[in-house]
Amino acid sequence: MTTEWFSLRMRAVRRNRHLSGAERLGRAHDVPSLTAALLQRAMTHGGGPPDQVHCTVERLDPAEICHAELPAVTAWEVADWPTGRLLAGRLLEQAGVSAAAVSRSLARLAAGPAPAGGPMRGAMIVDSQNGRRLEADPQRGVRVSRMDVAPEERPAIERCLNKAGLGHHRVLEAMVLAGKVLDAPAVVAELCWSDEPDYLTGYVAAPECGYQRITPLKAAGDPNGGRVFFVDGRTWCRKEFVAFLEQRPLLLHGTPEIHPPKTWKA
Ligand code: AMP
Repeated sequence: MTTEWFSLRMRAVRRNRHLSGAERLGRAHDVPSLTAALLQRAMTHGGGPPDQVHCTVERLDPAEICHAELPAVTAWEVADWPTGRLLAGRLLEQAGVSAAAVSRSLARLAAGPAPAGGPMRGAMIVDSQNGRRLEADPQRGVRVSRMDVAPEERPAIERCLNKAGLGHHRVLEAMVLAGKVLDAPAVVAELCWSDEPDYLTGYVAAPECGYQRITPLKAAGDPNGGRVFFVDGRTWCRKEFVAFLEQRPLLLHGTPEIHPPKTWKA
């Protein structure tokens, strides 16, 4: 079997706006089927057919591949999305994000974080204390790529998530992304909810508490969403942070620890 590794990235655009994106890592023999799955995703996105789809396949230097553990999972149920956002704020504050940075970031995601509103292609980077945005290009943000679960561990990981009722492909994708973000230098926490109008679950991730799903975190039909990476502004270095998230290949390992589901009342 070949040991060549490749990074695959897909980006779909509709009416000059980001529609959908995804990233995988795979060995050479898996590249055609992984590419087909990414194209299928772009062509069937809930936001309508794309005007353009870009797929990039790049060979990796295997010596550069890093390794990390998948984060532990907790699934929270709340009565409605405002309660979900209160819980998200609570979890972010426990992780070390200031109340001011939480409320500014929730408001930005709710309004659509791109400069003209609507979704960004990547994530916002926000100072966890003063709430200032730090990304160089606020239209694009930072796009995490070159990460995946170790292919030989994927079946066991999927079985474990299925058994816990977390078998939707978005769950593992979010865990993989959060796993890479939590490994990044100077990161404090991550907040996410989708811009897909009908996907209402979002999450908070932080090094101490892992990946905490919250349902719902937005109202049905709401087309706004995005991601925020909160960083410690005292030690954060843009070049190092962006290079790690965008360039460094990372494989995630281990059957994730899944805590029993929880309900939360404000
Ligand atoms: P999704 O969960 O795929 O609906 O994505 C929600 C939002 O998260 C997108 O609109 C982007 O702003 C952001 N996002 C998605 N994928 C990435 C990524 N790989 N890196 C950084 N931000 C992302």
